[in-house]
Amino acid sequence: MSTICAISTPLGVGGIAVIRISGEGALAAAERVFYPFADKAVSSMEGYTCAYGEVRDKDGRTVDDAVLTVFRAPKSYTGEDVCEISCHGGIYVTKKILRLCIEAGCEPAMAGEFTKRAFINGKLSLTQAEAVSDMLSAEGDYALSSAALARKGRLYADIKKISDSLIKSLGELAAWVDYPEEDIPEVDESELLETLKENRKALKRLLRDYDSGMIIKNGVDTVIAGKPNVGKSTLMNLLLGYDRSIVTDIAGTTRDVIEESVRLGAVTLRISDTAGIHGTDDTVEKMGVELAKSRLEECRLIIAVFDISSPLDDEDRELLDFIAGLKKKTVIVLNKTDKAQAADRTEFERYSDNIIAISAGSGEGREELSGMIETMFTPEDYNADSTVFANERQKMCAERALECIEDAVRALEAGLTLDAVTVTVDRAAEHLAELTGEKAGEAVVNEVFAKFCVGK
Ligand code: GDP
Repeated sequence: MSTICAISTPLGVGGIAVIRISGEGALAAAERVFYPFADKAVSSMEGYTCAYGEVRDKDGRTVDDAVLTVFRAPKSYTGEDVCEISCHGGIYVTKKILRLCIEAGCEPAMAGEFTKRAFINGKLSLTQAEAVSDMLSAEGDYALSSAALARKGRLYADIKKISDSLIKSLGELAAWVDYPEEDIPEVDESELLETLKENRKALKRLLRDYDSGMIIKNGVDTVIAGKPNVGKSTLMNLLLGYDRSIVTDIAGTTRDVIEESVRLGAVTLRISDTAGIHGTDDTVEKMGVELAKSRLEECRLIIAVFDISSPLDDEDRELLDFIAGLKKKTVIVLNKTDKAQAADRTEFERYSDNIIAISAGSGEGREELSGMIETMFTPEDYNADSTVFANERQKMCAERALECIEDAVRALEAGLTLDAVTVTVDRAAEHLAELTGEKAGEAVVNEVFAKFCVGK
């Protein structure tokens, strides 16, 4: 396999930057660009050692001071020989060193190629590699701990347990089906049925956790609802901490859905500020209203905003009724506490326990609102300790495996031949092997690693 190189740190001005080289020719390539100050050859450096020296170009001119770290196969991230050049973090310097490495015989790495090599060399399972990608983009502590668990192979271990059990059953079935004349103990059908049902349950649990996994990764899907001019945009700006959407005094200005992420303690919200749900003849606004309703139906958290300085009207009640019918986590925000109060707080109390009075304009009550939302989402909601699939690919494999197991259960219960059962159990095991990457096609593997950034 070729020797590859890439800048592994974000491109920009920083304290240090790392250029990573991996492959059989890693040390030879590093030796052509890096010159240790101590009288020592790069090619004779041992694994897990570093050398201080300088990077020089072809004409012997110094490019930068740097530290070279050597990892010897198989004890490296990729399982190959790896050299890392830590230089001063500047775009020009880093790119220049990368170019020198390429001139020294390395090929530029493709996105995710280091991790792909780690996978190929058996350093990581496919689910672990996908978790690395999640760690890189994790937002919030829960997301990070879940990604870290997956990287430790938790999902892999859970799936492996199911697939090992299926394979064990398959072994018994195969022996019985293929060698009926041998003196092999008969397959105990009720025991087999029991095993299949247990695995069905385990897979169903993993699939159910997937939804909470999506919250962890992407943030809680949140909608700010309310009629025009109650202060939705102002509240959104307050939560985001800067002026994001246009705030005007003309009712109905917020027509398009704007989406932003905001961190409240351990919880990340993905908030959209939508049009209010109010009767209108304006077609553009009407579309906005329909959109708002469907967004409310889809989301996980509703922040319903009311202007406490004017009395509750039919439009407010329509929104309250609509939201109450959805039975979702809801916070009722009574806005504009800085003005004289005209609405009656008790009217809201039958709709939600989570009512908070704030002044989005002055920012008063922001902390209380954040605190309230944070307590509504406990780690249990997040299932931060449970194993979750990292993406749709893994989920689809698990769903297919589950379908096959269900077919097998039905076949057994209907008294079909063990041949028929064997075929479906075999297929279930294959889908699981595809999930963990033990039997993933090349296309799947490429698809997974294409999502990485270059240098990882
Ligand atoms: P939206 O249509 O619901 O998005 O409402 P906006 O956020 O555009 O606010 C409508 C008007 O109410 C603007 O003039 C805001 O400055 C004003 N406003 C928002 N929050 C408050 C508040 O807490 N107190 C007062 N006095 N005015 C506010």
